[in-house]
Amino acid sequence: MKQFLISLIFIYANIIYSQSDYQCGMPPNYQETYQPGYQVNYPQIGGQFAPAKTLNGAYLRIFCVFAQFQGDNKDPNDPNWPVNQMPVWANSFIGTNINQAPYPINTLSNYFYQMSNGTNHIIGYIHPTLITVNAPSTQYYGTSNRTVLQQIDATVNFTYFDQWSMPGTYQQTPNQQDNYVDAIYIIWRNIDYDTWGGIANLGLTYPNNPYITNDGARIADRIPTISMTLDIGGKSDYTFQNKLGLLAHEYGHYLFGAGHNFELAACSGTAQRGLGLMPAWAGSLAMNPHEKFLLGYTTYTDVFYDTPKTLADYQTSHIS
Ligand SMILES: [Zn+2]
Repeated sequence: MKQFLISLIFIYANIIYSQSDYQCGMPPNYQETYQPGYQVNYPQIGGQFAPAKTLNGAYLRIFCVFAQFQGDNKDPNDPNWPVNQMPVWANSFIGTNINQAPYPINTLSNYFYQMSNGTNHIIGYIHPTLITVNAPSTQYYGTSNRTVLQQIDATVNFTYFDQWSMPGTYQQTPNQQDNYVDAIYIIWRNIDYDTWGGIANLGLTYPNNPYITNDGARIADRIPTISMTLDIGGKSDYTFQNKLGLLAHEYGHYLFGAGHNFELAACSGTAQRGLGLMPAWAGSLAMNPHEKFLLGYTTYTDVFYDTPKTLADYQTSHIS
């Protein structure tokens, strides 16, 4: 019995030692040594190329168009996006009116609304017909995207989608035109030019960048237009729930910038890849606390490891 007690104490001591040995928090009197790293990678709190907050009734509206190559015969009877049709979720993956706030659950609008504590309204306009492009699905995606724009140009008034002036980084003014379409998603059923699932541009190149519409509005390859190309059929999963993180991630490149892993070295020099909206790989859907901090959605207080602190659920309390 005595021997048992001693070994129990020994095990207990070992556990205590292990816990205090692993410090991912801040030691006493820790100085903010990672802050300079933030400054290098992220000069200012807020959205770099897209508004992080749309205040006073303003909103950012994304022009959304669905496209398919004529010869697309991959998963032809997929119930979520049958070939030669709009996806069944075309009118439900994003809010279309600011009056819908907080927006239906699982929509892109609800995602940004929730992450921003109700300060960022991102809605969409859905082009009502599927655009079919007669070309090989492997051709350069910028050429394919340009064909989509040419095919819809005559029926769309693109000046209607220019409601923001975004002349430079961290400069976004609502209710002011800059002659650039604010934001566009070209959402492909399958595009086989590359292996990415999405990219934060349209691939437009000189002399077709910007693309100038019949109305004289301009669509930039990227910046100041928030331009995004999506490949939904990757992994043969055509649900928008599966691609919601991808849609948000590509938009995130305009909020955060072109890079990844914005929380570079917060834990003893270890990058925190795998958590957050903007890791280079294996990210999650939710913005992590650092990402929220960079957009001005949360602040933080240092809690030292010798100070007891109880935390509530992060996503609902916004406290982590
Ligand atoms: Zn990315």
